[in-house]
Amino acid sequence: MALRQILTEPNKILREKSLFVEKVDKDLQKLMDDMLETMYAAPGIGLAAIQVGVPKRVIVMDIGSRNTSETLNDNTHIEKKSPMYFVNPEIIEKSEHNSTYEEGCLSVPGQFAEVDRPAKCHIKYLDYHGQPKEIKAEGMLATCIQHEMDHLEGILFIDYLSKLKKTMIIKKLSKQKKTVERIIV
Ligand code: ZN
Repeated sequence: MALRQILTEPNKILREKSLFVEKVDKDLQKLMDDMLETMYAAPGIGLAAIQVGVPKRVIVMDIGSRNTSETLNDNTHIEKKSPMYFVNPEIIEKSEHNSTYEEGCLSVPGQFAEVDRPAKCHIKYLDYHGQPKEIKAEGMLATCIQHEMDHLEGILFIDYLSKLKKTMIIKKLSKQKKTVERIIV
């Protein structure tokens, strides 16, 4: 496994529409392994392939690792990891009522905002082994999947904010990027 670089806004690649995957093969599994490692290292709970510059309809997520940790008898603290892989995810059905979460994004570092999304959604997808699966998601899982699926369409959560707020965030991020470049040079 290897860490990949996470692209941050503003970046045109993040606005690309990702392509359907034709076959889940070893190369794709390697990409998913790398994405998961990159996501854990960030740390984050979801990552779409386009965020590491690969325009394929692939998502990795783990919303379990933060609240399923357990302490063993010898006091070793173990974080149970529950990775999820979604290839070519499609929404079959979504609820009419929304829920609101404060969202952040590894491609929009340091910025958070409340976003309304359908509270429940029914998704079909291919798993890590290319097997067709379905999942009925609600709560944080539903929000997280929809956030990641937006990435496949080139959409970021800041697109749901007012124009003023979005412009402010992009300006801030551009400024941060410039500062980083100056230090490196
Ligand atoms: Zn994101």
